[in-house]
Amino acid sequence: MSNRKASFLLASAALIIIFAGCSKKEAPTAAQEQGKDAAQPAAPARPPRNPLKNAYFGDLHLHTGYSMDAFAFGTRTTPEDSYKYAMGETVEYMGKPQKRNAPLDFLAVTDHAEYLGVVRDTIDPNGPFAKTPWYAMMTSTDPKVSGEAFKKLIGSTVVNKPIPEFSDPKLLRSTWEKYEAIADKYNAPGKFTAFIGFEWTSAPQFQNLHRCVIFADKGPEIPFTAFESVDPEALWTYLEQQRKSGMDVIAVPHNGNASNGLMFSTKDMSGKPITRDYAERRMANEPLAEIIQAKGQTDTSPALSPTDEFANFEMWYYLIGSDKKANSATGSYLRQAYGVGQEQQAKLGVNPFKYGIEAGTDFHSGITSTEPSNYPGSHGNQDNDPATVIRATTSVGGEPPTALSSGGLTGVWADENTRESIFAAFKRKETFGTSGTRIKVRMFASWSYPKDMTKQADWIKAA
Ligand SMILES: [Zn+2]
Ligand SMILES: [Zn+2]
Repeated sequence: MSNRKASFLLASAALIIIFAGCSKKEAPTAAQEQGKDAAQPAAPARPPRNPLKNAYFGDLHLHTGYSMDAFAFGTRTTPEDSYKYAMGETVEYMGKPQKRNAPLDFLAVTDHAEYLGVVRDTIDPNGPFAKTPWYAMMTSTDPKVSGEAFKKLIGSTVVNKPIPEFSDPKLLRSTWEKYEAIADKYNAPGKFTAFIGFEWTSAPQFQNLHRCVIFADKGPEIPFTAFESVDPEALWTYLEQQRKSGMDVIAVPHNGNASNGLMFSTKDMSGKPITRDYAERRMANEPLAEIIQAKGQTDTSPALSPTDEFANFEMWYYLIGSDKKANSATGSYLRQAYGVGQEQQAKLGVNPFKYGIEAGTDFHSGITSTEPSNYPGSHGNQDNDPATVIRATTSVGGEPPTALSSGGLTGVWADENTRESIFAAFKRKETFGTSGTRIKVRMFASWSYPKDMTKQADWIKAA
């Protein structure tokens, strides 16, 4: 999808795009190609860097039982399970063993920062809620009682009014420390990259402005929640502070399709036209946008692209967590934003929407099961058995579970499978998104390529 835009933007330049490794079965990962078995704990020699770069595939958007909504759906997986599953190990999900056919090269677990891990704590007989009414409600054998407790919790996030005992910074800090340590434990330079991340879950009146936050290496003291602010500019301030203290970090917006036109609006949250400063900050903090995930694609819609016969691919029509339809006439989709961004560039001198592309799952299962032939559902008890999927008329976002797709994957061109190398690719936007396949998309562009360029033996190096 990004290539289509690129070819439009660079129509008069010589352009070389290659597609490789496209097959029905998922191709082996770069780690497999290098003869490494992700399941083996022994540390083999680190593969040499490839200056011509390898394509690595991973997911930068995944929820586990540490996310309040996933926990409410019955998901009990932990970030530890997520990294194991991504590396090709067997883990248990909804009472059944699950294993990827082809391991991933990298993963960021991005649980919702709001109440991160806290709901899990409520059912721990030795945890911080053990002697409180919450423990009794959450562990009640009467589903009505526990259902009411969950309703109260979810309701508080919808109106953005945190329940004090669940948003105690000390509690968040202690969970977050463990959370970061898990990513560090599974990060294996040269073999598998585990990023530290979280999701900032801003959705005023169900209008989705969510961003996944991904750290280059070490993580912060504490994540930033939408309880503190629902304004993306406040999130950028937090990111800028992290960078000042030596931790590079990016935010990746997703589901513009459910934003009611807010995601790629030319107005800020206060309704004022965006400024040059806004555009500069947006691009410095958000080099990438997520183009597809479980809740549909954010590329374009049939209404915006009437002559594109693929524009109805994996559409999602609703606001987030609501059965109300989104207004997506403008400001919701990337393809349109690329054009608007150029208009803004002419006006402000900076393009606020010059996004690179990535894709993720946003599964609330803890497992990145993007393999269609190996898919156990993605949202706990909402879609874990075929009868539920067929019969249910509503689900996570108002639509029936049949509307959920099998998610997407991020492709990255990097010289080795390390945090440093892959994060650098995010920053220079040498990335692409797929609907879960491992097609390798690479683009080169120049005004002066010779016509027989691809016939040269070392054409990749030359390009
Ligand atoms: Zn989200
Ligand atoms: Zn998410």
